[in-house]
Amino acid sequence: MNHRDDSKIISIDRKFLRAAQCKKCGAKLYPTSLLDRHLSRHRARQRWFNAELRKLQFTFSHMRDIA
Ligand SMILES: [Zn+2]
Repeated sequence: MNHRDDSKIISIDRKFLRAAQCKKCGAKLYPTSLLDRHLSRHRARQRWFNAELRKLQFTFSHMRDIA
């Protein structure tokens, strides 16, 4: 009984060793092939953030013009 539990824990650890870790948010991804999809989601979020930032900067520069 105990022996079987041990082997289960070891197999879980092996899975995590094969997992890829995202350097941006530290998330562990398994299987490692998920990392590409995960990173592209980060890039999409960054693109959205940059677009929103540009919109804000545009608004602020116009507010300064009016004031
Ligand atoms: Zn991440």
